[in-house]
Amino acid sequence: MGKRITILGGSESGVGAALLAKQQGYTVFVSDGGRLKENYKKELVENDIDFEEGSHSEAKILVADEVMKSPGIPEKNELIKKIRAKGIPVISEIEFAYRHKGESKIVGITGSNGKTTTTAMTFHICKNGGLDCALVGNIGYSFAKQIAEDPKPWYIAEISSFQLDDIKTFRPDVAILTNITEDHLDRYEYKFENYIRSKFRIVMNQTQEDYFIYNEDDPVTKQYISQYSSITNPLPITMQHELNKGGFISNGQMTLATNTEKVQMSIYDFALKGIHNQYNSMAAGLAAATIGIRKEKIRDAIKSFEALEHRMEFVLTVRGVDFINDSKATNVNSTWYALESMDKPTVLILGGIDKGNDYSLIRELVKEKVKAIVCMGTDNRKIHEAFQNDMPLIVNTSSAQEAVKAAFHFATKGDVVLLSPACASFDLFKNYEDRGQQFKEAVRDL
Ligand code: ADP
Repeated sequence: MGKRITILGGSESGVGAALLAKQQGYTVFVSDGGRLKENYKKELVENDIDFEEGSHSEAKILVADEVMKSPGIPEKNELIKKIRAKGIPVISEIEFAYRHKGESKIVGITGSNGKTTTTAMTFHICKNGGLDCALVGNIGYSFAKQIAEDPKPWYIAEISSFQLDDIKTFRPDVAILTNITEDHLDRYEYKFENYIRSKFRIVMNQTQEDYFIYNEDDPVTKQYISQYSSITNPLPITMQHELNKGGFISNGQMTLATNTEKVQMSIYDFALKGIHNQYNSMAAGLAAATIGIRKEKIRDAIKSFEALEHRMEFVLTVRGVDFINDSKATNVNSTWYALESMDKPTVLILGGIDKGNDYSLIRELVKEKVKAIVCMGTDNRKIHEAFQNDMPLIVNTSSAQEAVKAAFHFATKGDVVLLSPACASFDLFKNYEDRGQQFKEAVRDL
C-alpha cells in the first residue's frame, strides 16, 4: 500500500490533489465536513477515490502519513489541532503539486490585491509569446489537477497567503508580490505582521537562479524586503524613479529592463486603465520579459488584454451614464484604486460586510470625485458615519436593483456609476460574482 494522504476539503484544490495523489500511487482519502458539489463527487467516484462528506472520521484521518488541507480551513479548526498534535505533516495543494511537477517551471503570483489580474495578464502575455503554459491556482483551476491531467513546461499560478502558509519546498522560478495591505486578519490572530510574513513565504525557497518582482512603491513590501536574504535577483517596479533593472514608468512611458532586454511602451497603449493596472501590467510584462518572451509579443499582449469580469468591468452606457462593475473590490484599498482611476463625476455604490474597514483612506478621493453614495448592505451605519460630513447625498438600499435605480437617479449624462463596494458580499449575495451579475442584470433592465 502506498503512502497514505488525507485530503481535507473536497472542492477544486482538494479534488485536484486527490487525482494527482491517486495517479502517483498514494492511498487517498478525501474528507469534507460539508456537502461536495456534484461535479467533484463524480470525479472522485470515477477515479475510485475513497471519500466522505458531511463529517470527518477522525480515526481514519489520523492514520495518514500526511494531510493536505484546503486553504479555506483555518489553523484554529479542532481537527487541524489534533492532526498537528499527532505530528502529522500538513501541506497545501500547491506544495503537493510542486513535488510532482518534474522539470517544469513556475511563475507564482501573490499579494493582497491584483493577484488575479496580474496572473491572467502574465498568462495572456506568455501564451501570446508562444510559451507552452497553463493558468492555475486560486484563479479557479487546480495546479495539482493540471499536473495530473495535462502537464506543461510552465505554470502561471495565482497563490493566496493561505496556500503559502503550508508550503515546505514550493519554489517559484519567478515570483511576483503585487502589494501588501491589511486583509484576512481573522486568519492571522489579528496580527498584520503574521499576514506580511505569510506573503513573503513566496520567496522562502528561492535560490540564485530565481527572480522576485515586487512593488517598490508599496510601503509595507519596502519595509520588510531587506529581511529576506533568499532574494538574490530582486526586480522592483516603481513609478518614482528610473531603474537599471526592473520596471518603471516615467513621463507616460513604461520601461522593463532585465539583464538582457529592454522593453518600452507608452502607458496610453495599455488595455487596462487606472494606476493599479499600470502596476499590474508592469509586473506581468516584467515576468514575461524575464522568462524570455519577445518584446513585440509583450507589447501586443499588454495592448490586447481584456478586463476580467467583476474587476473594473465596463457594463453599459445608459442615457449617457457609464456603469462599471468592480464587485471584486472587497476592501477599501481596492476601492481606492477604482476611485483613483475615475475621470468623470461618480456615483459610488458601497457596502456589504465590512471586514474592519477604515474609510478615512478614501475620504479625500470621495470628496474629490463622488457626487452621491448609494449604500448596498444590511448595516450601513459605518458608511454614514464616515462620509456624512462631506457628502450630502447618501442613501440606503438593500438589493442590486434598488441600488442601480437609486444610483441612476442621482447620475446625469456624462457621469459614471461605479459598483466598488469595499466590502464582502455575503449579507445580500452568494458571493462577489453573484453581486456583480445582479448588478449587471439590474443595469440592463434600466
Ligand atoms: P485579487 O485576485 O488579489 O483579489 P484582482 O485582480 O481580482 O485581485 O483585483 C481585485 C480588485 O482589486 C480590483 O477590482 C481592483 O479594484 C483592485 N486592484 C487590482 N489590482 C490592484 C493593485 N495592483 N493594487 C491595488 N488594488 C488593485
